[in-house]
Amino acid sequence: MILIDFSIAIAFYILGILAAAFALGVFTGKQKDKDLSLDPRFIWFCSVCSYTFINTKEDYISTCPRCGSYNKKSS
Ligand SMILES: [Zn+2]
Repeated sequence: MILIDFSIAIAFYILGILAAAFALGVFTGKQKDKDLSLDPRFIWFCSVCSYTFINTKEDYISTCPRCGSYNKKSS
């Protein structure tokens, strides 16, 4: 009886680890996909020279790499 209970406990333990590993793998995979895809808020559109550029560092104001003018996030 004790042996059966112990193996069931081990089975549940392994199952738990596998479930956690799977969940973690799914989570990190989603995270990786999120990193690879370009966030729309990083895409900037210059109002002066109509140049589209990517700036991942700034959130509200970004400098256009073409004409050097400051652009505020419209959306
Ligand atoms: Zn510009």
